[in-house]
Amino acid sequence: MIIVCKKSDDASVEMLTGKFESMGFRTHLSKGTESTIIGLIGDTSKISVEDIEAIDIVEKVQRVSEPYKLVNRKFHNDDTVIDVNGVKIGGGHFAVMAGPCSIESEEQIVSCAKAVKAAGANFLRGGAFKPRTSPYAFRGLKAQGLEFLLTAKKETGLPVVTELMSLEHLDLFNDVDIIQIGARNMQNFEMLAEIGKCRKPILLKRGLANTIEEWLMSAEYIMSGGNENVILCERGIRTFDTATRNTFDVSAIPVLHNLTHLPVIADPSHASGKSALVKPLAKSAVAAGADGLMIEVHPEPSKALCDGAQSLTPEAFENVMTDVRKLCGLENKIL
Ligand code: PEP
Ligand code: MN
Repeated sequence: MIIVCKKSDDASVEMLTGKFESMGFRTHLSKGTESTIIGLIGDTSKISVEDIEAIDIVEKVQRVSEPYKLVNRKFHNDDTVIDVNGVKIGGGHFAVMAGPCSIESEEQIVSCAKAVKAAGANFLRGGAFKPRTSPYAFRGLKAQGLEFLLTAKKETGLPVVTELMSLEHLDLFNDVDIIQIGARNMQNFEMLAEIGKCRKPILLKRGLANTIEEWLMSAEYIMSGGNENVILCERGIRTFDTATRNTFDVSAIPVLHNLTHLPVIADPSHASGKSALVKPLAKSAVAAGADGLMIEVHPEPSKALCDGAQSLTPEAFENVMTDVRKLCGLENKIL
């Protein structure tokens, strides 16, 4: 970290360097005619730039290393491989999470589970607690939806991923294999800290308008609680363009692989909002190095209670899977 001091007397600068040294940092001074620069050597991830800028002799502060540590590839070079009850994600293990946006009935989720499994998915997705913009929209079957999801898990053997919207519901998630933290809760810091205390894998979706650094800081929240099982999911971000529901940030995938050891998957369904765009976006994600995909599949998209326009029929999903397999030579990696 570099701290640029305003023109000030030696004693004030010494007081400041002494303060940092007493905190365990080494300091390096560079005196110019107009200003003095202090180089701070040590783990500065727990230091707040704003707090230092509030010191009267400080002009500005520049980080030279990232503010996150546990998720940082610099301190953990090997890809993290997350083992979800025997199904692995990351480090060459490809995950395909497929299923409806919302669980609507036992029959719907069970038939969808069978169809996506037959097409090659190795996880079943489905929302029981749904974040909806309108309070009048279908907000999920809640606890009953989770029961239906677990029935589908039992019938197919597929591990399940579903969204947690409130810590109050955490007890209902004991048999859920991956807890999804949706885009709208990516910066719900109380929630992140709390789920950091459990050891269940967490799928952390990117916030609607969050930077990659903010996203990684949210993953750091979970990891700093001791939970190392974090999977990141790029699901598109808000931009000025209205042609798609969101703008798919494909570059986030290689950028993240460079910055972090955590697995990165992509959700082309929420990124595009349109079923016809799911296949090309899925393929672009695979080509960019994604460790997996999350895709919405509904037995009858036109009757879906949520996100029908972006949902694939089981047949269309099978078609996407054929291309995905070809693209990354996955024949032996997924079912
Ligand atoms: C979902 O996966 O159904 C969902 C609501 O996703 P997001 O949080 O990315 O909008
Ligand atoms: Mn959805």
